[in-house]
This record gives sequence, C-alpha cells and structure tokens, in this order.
Amino acid sequence: LAAFLLYMLYLMSPVAAVFQALSTMRQGLGALRRISEVLDLPGEPGPEPERRPARPAHDVPVLEFQDVRFRYEPGRPVLRGVSFTVPRRGHVALIGSSGAGKSTVFALAERFYDPDAGRVLFEGRDIRTLGPAEHRARIGLVEQHAPVLYGTLRENLLYAAPCADPAELDRVVGLAQLSDVVARSPYGLDTPAGEHGMALSGGERQRVALARSLLTHPSLLLLDEPTAHLDALNEAALRRSIRRITHECALLVIAHRYSTIRAADLVVVLDGGRVVATGTHDELLRTSEHYRFLARAQGTGDVLSG
Ligand code: ATP
Repeated sequence: LAAFLLYMLYLMSPVAAVFQALSTMRQGLGALRRISEVLDLPGEPGPEPERRPARPAHDVPVLEFQDVRFRYEPGRPVLRGVSFTVPRRGHVALIGSSGAGKSTVFALAERFYDPDAGRVLFEGRDIRTLGPAEHRARIGLVEQHAPVLYGTLRENLLYAAPCADPAELDRVVGLAQLSDVVARSPYGLDTPAGEHGMALSGGERQRVALARSLLTHPSLLLLDEPTAHLDALNEAALRRSIRRITHECALLVIAHRYSTIRAADLVVVLDGGRVVATGTHDELLRTSEHYRFLARAQGTGDVLSG
C-alpha cells in the first residue's frame, strides 16, 4: 500500500506543479490587467476629441478645479463646490479625513467621471474637450498599493514605455530613488521582481510604479501616498524623489505625512466634499482650526489623515 501511495504522489507532483504555475500566471495576468486599465481605459465618459493642443503658456495651471460638484448617487453629494489650482511644476498636497473626497478628486482629474457642475481644466482646457486616452497619457497615477508585475525590474518599468532607451531608464531609476535597489539586486535591472522575484517593500514597490509613470513624461503626477508605516529609509527616499520630481512635472499628492505636507507649496484641506482651507503647512497651523484638529487627532503620529 505504501508503495502504491508513493507511486500516486509521484504521479501527482507534475499535476500540482502545473496548478501552481497556472495560479502564478493568473495572478500575473490580474496585475497586468490592472495596469492596462489604468494606462488605457476605454473612452468613458463620452469624448469630445480635438487636435492635440499647442504647448500651454507657462502661467497656465496644469490642473484647475472650478467649483466642481459631483455625486456618485442621487441625493448624496460627494464634492460640493471644490476649487483649487495645481500650478505648472507645482506641488500640492490634498488632505482630509476618510471620506472627505480625496480619491474622488483624483477620479475626476483623470476623467473617470464628469462633474455634475463646475469644470475641471487640464492645461487651461476643459477636460471634456480632450480625448480620454490622450488626457490620461499626460497624467501619471501612482496608487498606494502599486502592482509589481511578474517579470524583471526592467520589464516592470518598460511596460509603460517599451521604446525607452537605457539612458531614460537610468534617469527614472534615479528620480524614483531606486538606484540602491538596483545596485543590491543580483542582476541589476534584470533581476526578477514580482511574486517569487526579489522581495520589494511597499515603499519600493510604489517607487517602481513611480519610475514607470515618469517614463511616460506626464505633465501631472497623481500620487496616493501610503497610509501604512514606511520605515525611515523608505520615507526619506519618497521625500527625495518627490523633491526631484517637481523639477519634471506638477504633483498632486494625497498626503498623510507631515514631511510630505510640509514640503508642499500648497496644502488643500478637504472636509465633507468642500475645501475648508488652503495654504502652506505653517500658514494652516496658524489659521485653520480644522487643520489643527487633523494634526491633533493623530497625536504625535506621522499620519495626518486616513
Ligand atoms: P479615504 O481617505 O478613506 O480614501 P477619501 O477622502 O479618498 O477617503 P472618497 O473615496 O473620495 O474619500 O469618498 C468620498 C465619498 O464618496 C465617501 O462617502 C464614499 O463612500 C463615496 N464613494 C466613493 N466612491 C464611491 C463609488 N464608487 N460609489 C458610491 N459612493 C462612493
């Protein structure tokens, strides 16, 4: 009987290996699909395309919300007249407690939805007049839990811009503060990442996504800063890359950390779908009770909102 059982196990091991491989492939494909959705969403809502505009003047903001009102469901307004501006190469931090509407602002900036009233302007033009694919090609989105694909680090980066040359790759690796990660990897950029590849921390995964986004030369980067704890090295790396990115493009960050908020040129405080205060961190500490409340609510902790 023992011999028979051993024989059965022997027969089943390749089958188990095949199932394991299929499961790995399915996870890889899931991540791939997710990235495809972000990079190449279908044309909803209805486009009113025009020719690609000439380069906008320097004083035209990259993004402007003008009295934007929006609800997902009738009778439940989510944005109730939101106005703010992200200047060219500006760094704006968006903060507010959970449910304040921060992610909804990102969704409207990407034109996943159209406002019920008011306007969203991108480089001076109502985004309803831009084709969605063209518009999204000029916006980089880096989510909190950025997917890393099955494949090497290089493949993960080139997914967004397959024709990027090695100098371009070096540039974005430097900008995203990944040089140390590449240096400590056994095969450099050709080291397998993703599942069963090299272990990347949450902060490193997000910086891989950041580098991938930067390869497409966006005019505006939307970054959802992790709420989860980042160790000191990862936090410093994120801070350095944010500082350098603003030389390349404008940055709108859903920010949770004092360090990120303090570094911003402008902080926009959302509460219940309204902008309740704007200013620098120091100005807001002086002028905004709500800002002080958010800061106090987190005690001495680093995270200002959640
Ligand atoms: P958090 O910090 O928790 O992510 P947030 O400030 O990003 O919150 P949003 O995610 O923009 O807030 O949500 C604002 C409001 O809109 C919430 O009341 C939320 O329940 C609601 N909401 C968000 N997405 C949808 C959706 N797809 N359908 C219906 N309601 C939604």
